[in-house]
Amino acid sequence: SNSVSDDYSVQRTNDDATQCKYFAIQKGYWKDEFIGRFANSSANVAEARRFPEISMGYWARTAAIEKYVRGFLEEFNGNAQVVSFGCGFDTLFWRLVSSGAKLAKYVEVDFSSVTSKKIRHILKPGGSVDLKKSFESEAVVSHHADLHAGNYHLIGADLRQTSELEQKLATCQLDHDIPTIFIAECVLVYMSANASSSLLKNLVSQFRQPAFVNYEQFRTSDAFTRVMEQNLGERGIQLHGLEMCESAEKQEERFRNAGFKSVKVMDMNQIFNQFLDQNEVARIRTIEMLDEMELLEQLLAHYCVVFARV
Ligand code: SAM
Repeated sequence: SNSVSDDYSVQRTNDDATQCKYFAIQKGYWKDEFIGRFANSSANVAEARRFPEISMGYWARTAAIEKYVRGFLEEFNGNAQVVSFGCGFDTLFWRLVSSGAKLAKYVEVDFSSVTSKKIRHILKPGGSVDLKKSFESEAVVSHHADLHAGNYHLIGADLRQTSELEQKLATCQLDHDIPTIFIAECVLVYMSANASSSLLKNLVSQFRQPAFVNYEQFRTSDAFTRVMEQNLGERGIQLHGLEMCESAEKQEERFRNAGFKSVKVMDMNQIFNQFLDQNEVARIRTIEMLDEMELLEQLLAHYCVVFARV
């Protein structure tokens, strides 16, 4: 069996992320006209008790990843690819394309149980936004779990199964010679340290110019891990024995060991105060007033973004 909890609970963490993002978007933390296609809008009332700190954290992680990916695509004038691992119901592809960002290819990967749900949401008729409009060509679905539409691909694969993943990625015909940025937003933490290390190593050996942006928990104590597991448990998600990186040094080490030469680790306080647009930070601080800043700072200190290049 798997040392890092059962796959069903791991997949359910996506529902949680989607609802948290949907809630924060409705509160005005950021704009995303696409998330409504994926979120459960009737779950609203129950969500209403969420702490502002949680919404601020979701805003910061979304904004940081989007800023980095946009910068990467611009650096190469759009002649670059994006691969999102454990994409869940993330909407970055649609946010990029609708704002005119240029990219060569966008590939999303998750368990096939998750991608099949995402495909249903993408293709279902009705609603105020048509997600298919962003596709270059008509969507072709195979095995209910894979969708190919021009430069957009959504494939079902287990990131821990190296050869399955390689075969599935091959169906997307990625160009291994052009700059390619890989995203893992709250994903590697659900894999064993060995599995995530081989994933990283394989990318560096197969792609000539890979970059990686990783967001996840770190600096965890046993107490923090217990609180996190307990919070998820209250929402019916059973996760135990997560292997988290305990420090920025450990994060850096794992990316360097995989062959990335330039690795920058920032905790979310640094992301908040140094990396993100300070006008935006000022704006989101006024949405819901915090009684005290300490809780936010403590929460943000337990999450980081890793920016890695070869
Ligand atoms: N990245 C999305 C976001 O931030 O909104 C979803 C995050 S959710 C917390 C974690 C996602 O990673 C889930 O959709 C889960 O199914 C996926 N995931 C975790 N382990 C995986 C694996 N071994 N193979 C494929 N997907 C995985």
